Amino acid sequence: MSTKKLQTLKGFRDFLPEEKRRRDFIMAKVKQTFEIFGFEPLETPTLEYSSVILGKYGKEADKMVYSFKDKGGRNLSLRYDQTVPTARVLAQYQAKLPKCFRRYQLQNVFRADKPQAGRYREFTQCDIDIFGSTSPLADAEIIACTYFSFKNVGYPNIILRLNDRQVLFDVLKPFSSKKLSLLSIIQTVDKLDKKPKSDVIKELVTKGLTLKQTNQALKAINQAKISDNLKQIITLSQSLGVPEKALDFSPSLARGLDYYTGMIFEVILPKYKIGSFGGGGRYDNLINQLSGINIPAVGIAFGFDRMVEAATEMKLIPAVGIGTQVLVTIFDKTTTKASAQIAQKLRQANISTEIYPDQDKLDKQLKFANKKAIPFVLIIGPDEAKANQVTLKDMATGQQQTLPLDQVINKLK
Ligand code: AMP
Repeated sequence: MSTKKLQTLKGFRDFLPEEKRRRDFIMAKVKQTFEIFGFEPLETPTLEYSSVILGKYGKEADKMVYSFKDKGGRNLSLRYDQTVPTARVLAQYQAKLPKCFRRYQLQNVFRADKPQAGRYREFTQCDIDIFGSTSPLADAEIIACTYFSFKNVGYPNIILRLNDRQVLFDVLKPFSSKKLSLLSIIQTVDKLDKKPKSDVIKELVTKGLTLKQTNQALKAINQAKISDNLKQIITLSQSLGVPEKALDFSPSLARGLDYYTGMIFEVILPKYKIGSFGGGGRYDNLINQLSGINIPAVGIAFGFDRMVEAATEMKLIPAVGIGTQVLVTIFDKTTTKASAQIAQKLRQANISTEIYPDQDKLDKQLKFANKKAIPFVLIIGPDEAKANQVTLKDMATGQQQTLPLDQVINKLK
């Protein structure tokens, strides 16, 4: 019989248990830091009206939004990021939400991007944002929470590259025109980190700048001075505990999305060249653009998938202490009920327990435990069942002991 060849869509992935556990470990670390910084959880739907999603990110990013008509003929889009849906929430529920609302959001986003290393079409982002404050302290809180989230996972060298969109606006304004908008120039400048400089020059020339203007623009960016606003944010970030060496003023950092208005920043783990591990900044006009309500905002999205990949390579994720602790075996038909009752008691004692459901040979059941790296096995034969006892086998040493269940529970706890 021939089997059908099944596959997932390009850029969409399955996570088998071992990988999923690694993801859960990192997610717990990130969430712990978000909670410590006082952020509150939020979720939004996967699908939104296209009118909410489109027209906020810029021409190039809009092309990567998955959009379609539903059966009722409505134009819908899949979540492209968590910022725009949250901006809708802010506008929709503003009366219910506290002043200076700070939320975190850990959901999947979808982009019709070109799949490659560290770049997927469905991936997870971890966002934190503070709404309703223009204070540089809000920017510094986002920077500090980002730094400590990455530190909590254990990455050894965390660099936050910072710039101020206002600096870029001031420097690049003379090069914009009716035909070539400031944001279009910024979208191309953003590629300086990802593409050779010659490609960036070529693109700016194609967009309408002369070669001389292009060189002048790039020189002006490199010579740009740090703004007072960014200086203040950096000082406050240090007061919040971020080491000076982690904060790097990068005048060429542009960030691709149109909605940024002030401080912008990216997380870099210098050993890993697959791109940034997070990107964010201040976006004071987005909610106004959506709803006409003025709510300033600042935040960041971490690229969770890249975080897991780097943490795995750096061996930051412990292999022990997670997963099933005990396998309860089945000796034969007459002892099945006793095995089930014992599994129930172990679970009641908060011991992670799997019961082998079939009546296979004991040897096969032990091999199963070994393969799954379950550290302990319980054997309940007819004699043990009668005497209210169990045999505990330590899979690492091979040692066996026959004991009352209570003692086994105490040992395993
Ligand atoms: P952005 O929302 O584009 O500012 O991206 C924020 C972070 O998400 C980036 O720094 C990346 O770490 C991550 N990211 C962006 N695009 C992708 C992608 N296609 N696949 C995986 N991670 C991504």
